[in-house]
Amino acid sequence: MTPEGASVTIESLVQGRYVKFLNNFGYVNPSEDTLVPEAFSHFTYHESNGEILVTDLQGVYNQTRYVFTDPAIHSIEIPRYTFGHYGPTDLGVFGVMKFFQNHKCNLLCDGLRIPEVSKVSDYWKEDLHRVTDSVEFKSDSTYTYELQNVGLPAQRIQELHNNVAETLALSGRHGKQLNGTR
Ligand SMILES: [Zn+2]
Repeated sequence: MTPEGASVTIESLVQGRYVKFLNNFGYVNPSEDTLVPEAFSHFTYHESNGEILVTDLQGVYNQTRYVFTDPAIHSIEIPRYTFGHYGPTDLGVFGVMKFFQNHKCNLLCDGLRIPEVSKVSDYWKEDLHRVTDSVEFKSDSTYTYELQNVGLPAQRIQELHNNVAETLALSGRHGKQLNGTR
């Protein structure tokens, strides 16, 4: 029972064949056409200048448009270095890395920015993979903070997140300057 005075969120019933297209940790539904959902997630990364990635896309495609609901947002906003800013399904750089590990860019992704993982130093890269490889991506579950249970201290996870976030942000700005001088 809802307590008196409590706030509630209500949305319209999403009618039609409900499909989980992507989860929040790299899963891409192999039985569905995911061209648009994948490109949309990629677009959110590009358009936010690498600060967020909207994923965990699920809902209904009715032949003319998609209706998505209950997404997850991975945030790597600088300089807050947030991890979990958008709730327990916000996996920060780990969610973003996992998306790009499994996403194959399609024709709709043309010109969209991708994270420059090669800029991350080897010192951090090993632990980064330890986190992103910690869960089998074939599952369509939605993952939460349990990612932190990968055998690394919470402080190390946070340091790792912040360092990778900073590296990606710096390489992004650097890339823009280079483009501007051409
Ligand atoms: Zn793409």
